[in-house]
Amino acid sequence: MPIHFISAFTDNYIYVAETPAGAWIIDPGCAEPVFTWCAEHHIRPSAILCTHHHADHTGGVAALAQHFRLPVYGANQRIPQLTHAVSAGHLPLDTESLAVLEVPGHTRDHLAYVWRDALFCGDTLFAAGCGRLFEGTAAQMFRSLQQFAALPEDTLVYCAHEYTLSNLRFAAQVDPENPVIAQRQKEAIEQRARNTPTLPSTMALERASNPFLRCHEPALIHSANAFDPNTGGDPVRVFSTLRRWKDHFS
Ligand SMILES: [Zn+2]
Repeated sequence: MPIHFISAFTDNYIYVAETPAGAWIIDPGCAEPVFTWCAEHHIRPSAILCTHHHADHTGGVAALAQHFRLPVYGANQRIPQLTHAVSAGHLPLDTESLAVLEVPGHTRDHLAYVWRDALFCGDTLFAAGCGRLFEGTAAQMFRSLQQFAALPEDTLVYCAHEYTLSNLRFAAQVDPENPVIAQRQKEAIEQRARNTPTLPSTMALERASNPFLRCHEPALIHSANAFDPNTGGDPVRVFSTLRRWKDHFS
């Protein structure tokens, strides 16, 4: 089943999941490019799914919901025009079924959606990186990312921003001997030169090269302790140190 990319702002992706029974818009940060895309592709959407309330993910919800008369799914009323508050578990939608994951860290009420082999993870997991901790703790984000790591390795990772190249620069710094990172950088540079997305990624690739999923590995423990000698070897503390480091890395 096709999942379509709509670019928005400087580096956001809005996704349209074209299912047998309907088309779902995921995280419409603005409405105009979605209206244009739907007109060009003769698709009338059937629902909006929101991962979290940030404006660059919800700015287009009101106009789209109103125009197409769409149900809006999300965690709570921080999502504009919310019609269906959802929590962890199965979500029947049209004739399909999704798994909803509660993944706090970036925000306290962030959701992710798994549909067939696709993971829509908003601003929690990024290709070779993870989201900033705006509302949650490092321990929460660590547990959220572990939920993703437990998904099948061929799961396709649709994150909401094109941050891959800058994330890979950090990954190369903290995991310098990892050959997967070097290969991934080469491919991502070529993709961006052609102006194509570096996404979707796969869980297998993330497990092999994303430092925030590799906090148990000796190389990452070593790097985290070089940055902050008080880190120690606990994976949550390693995660916390790497996240703080990345916040100021350029
Ligand atoms: Zn966000």
